[in-house]
Amino acid sequence: MRLLEEKIKTDGKVISKDVLKVDSFLNHQIDPDLMLEIGKEFAKIFANEEITKIVTIESSGIAPAVMTGLQLNVPVIFARKQKSLTLYESLLTTTVHSFTKKETNDISISKKYLDENDKILIIDDFLANGEAALGLVDLVQQANAQVAGIGIVIEKSFQPGAQKLKDLGLRVESLARIESLANGVVTFISEKVE
Ligand code: 5GP
Repeated sequence: MRLLEEKIKTDGKVISKDVLKVDSFLNHQIDPDLMLEIGKEFAKIFANEEITKIVTIESSGIAPAVMTGLQLNVPVIFARKQKSLTLYESLLTTTVHSFTKKETNDISISKKYLDENDKILIIDDFLANGEAALGLVDLVQQANAQVAGIGIVIEKSFQPGAQKLKDLGLRVESLARIESLANGVVTFISEKVE
């Protein structure tokens, strides 16, 4: 997605050879216009999948997921990292190791929001080692619902997450695919193709 790649080029900060900071438009301050375009793009890509709900993880997946839900006219569920008092009912729970925080957390979704009739689109902000996305796939499968696809805003293609998910037969669609962050420079896969 050209608009997103341009935004990453101008506003993204390469923190190390494997971490990109996009706090100015996605992970802290949010650019609503860009999120709307991201939502439209995911809705177009997954238009024929008969999606019934979107599943993401708090907090940075929520903005792109809500914009996609708006376009597809379906509800959005975010997995919670902490069991809150309002989540006392039956939970689907799994364990996820965070790439950026280097810690392991339980993530949960209330059983009442997913069932076997659901076709789920999973959305997240970044794909690195695939832990977060695999955790969300696990929660959807615990509910006997179907994963129709995974939409990622920024895929770091030099890390193994995308391949792990594709090896499971899952459809992965990423709006920006980063081949390298070497030497402080963001190189996209699309730049090689064109
Ligand atoms: P994974 O579970 O695929 O290893 O990592 C995905 C999660 O880690 C995302 O939800 C995102 O919050 C975080 N993450 C992974 N890589 C990056 C990165 O380069 N920059 C930022 N800001 N977050 C990242």
